[in-house]
Amino acid sequence: QVVTRFAPSPTGFLHIGGARTALFNWLFARHHGGKFLLRIEDTDRARSTEEAVAAIFDGLEWLNLGGDEPAVFQFERTPRHAEVANQLLANGHAYRCYATQEELAELREQQRAAKQPMRYDGRWRDRSPEEAPEGAPFVIRIKAPRTGETVIEDAVQGRVVVQNAELDDMILLRSDGTPTYMLAVVVDDHDMGVTHVIRGDDHLNNAFRQLAIIKAMGWEEPVYGHIPLIHGSDGAKLSKRHGALGVDAYRDEMGMLPEAVLNYLLRLGWGHGDEEIISIERAIELFDIDGVGRSPSRFDIKKLENLNGHYLREADETRLAALVAPRVESRLDTQLNDAQRDILTQAMVSLKPRAKTLNEIAEGAEFLFKSCPLDFDEKASALLDEPARELLKKTADALQPVQSWTVEAIDEVIRRVAEDAGLGLGKVAQPLRAALTGRTVSPGIFDVLFLLGKEESLKRLTAAGH
Ligand code: GLU
Repeated sequence: QVVTRFAPSPTGFLHIGGARTALFNWLFARHHGGKFLLRIEDTDRARSTEEAVAAIFDGLEWLNLGGDEPAVFQFERTPRHAEVANQLLANGHAYRCYATQEELAELREQQRAAKQPMRYDGRWRDRSPEEAPEGAPFVIRIKAPRTGETVIEDAVQGRVVVQNAELDDMILLRSDGTPTYMLAVVVDDHDMGVTHVIRGDDHLNNAFRQLAIIKAMGWEEPVYGHIPLIHGSDGAKLSKRHGALGVDAYRDEMGMLPEAVLNYLLRLGWGHGDEEIISIERAIELFDIDGVGRSPSRFDIKKLENLNGHYLREADETRLAALVAPRVESRLDTQLNDAQRDILTQAMVSLKPRAKTLNEIAEGAEFLFKSCPLDFDEKASALLDEPARELLKKTADALQPVQSWTVEAIDEVIRRVAEDAGLGLGKVAQPLRAALTGRTVSPGIFDVLFLLGKEESLKRLTAAGH
């Protein structure tokens, strides 16, 4: 059975690159009918706060990328990591190293001066611990092979080879008994039954070191798939200056839907022909790790926005209204009542076709809940000249007798007003829109009148017509 995992270090948010790694692992497991597991790599105690961990779960939950079992917390497994280090010590694949900090600093200095790569030289590899002073602190180091080569048949990168002479005897357990990251990852992956390690290619070098531990324990090697990192639109590694790094910002600040973010992340480094719109069901059907490209992908916010626009148009109106309501409320600093929420839901059909984000929908919906008299933006007030105000009064008079306030009835009246004034419908709609919304962009004018209701429409037309 295929078992994949996502192993984020809690840094305060779910990184957008991490979300893509999680998605690829999740899809790979789903595609193969396997399991997807989560592990929180919280051994950096200073950074691993409860909030930082919660932020990761929150982001994953929003994207619906939960694990199939409760998450494993790496720090809790420290005793098990130490146990494995001691097992390696017992079976001769590791040794105690008593080299002091000063000694090691000196070694590094010599290597630097000789322009040699800085590596531990194995000075305790063949010495007996009895040569060390009583009670001296020690670390446990792996006895890594010194000759030959290590090969990884990476599912994304292809065959990657490293000369064993280039790898030193890395530390497994520190002198205070805490495990190193290399050891912890390997032990956890093994104990969790992970068969496929899919992660960023910044971990490719670690894989060789991790394999040394796996081999020393005689454990089965996982399949590796090291995926290229995401770069910014300028080609540099994705960083804060390219925009948001946390998934929460795409949700909260930018107003993206999770299905749009997932579709976008999927297409970032993986493709199926030129299909752009790929549902999660279809992704499960099609995804495989060998379809992931080797070159870094560039983050393109415009593409994400276009996808988001697509999913907004597809989305159910009640759901959209629920997502938009709090945004309208904070924009207008008010609370919407039930009747207003109903109007907002009705308005979705006319608001969503032109929007790319939930924020844009909220912005477009604002006019519905503003109080009369409105603030007019510059372009709108420019439209409300003397002849326009005349027209507004005439329109108000013509609408006054309408009994049943339907889009059809409104349509008929406005067309009549336009005809009587000898104007095209567009010419009439412009000042009406300005008077009713305070802006020059809005849903269709009949929809605007309908959504505002008769009373509010007349109030606004009259106020602007004065
Ligand atoms: N915790 C590591 C990170 O966040 C990932 C380790 C791994 O996937 O092996 O970069």
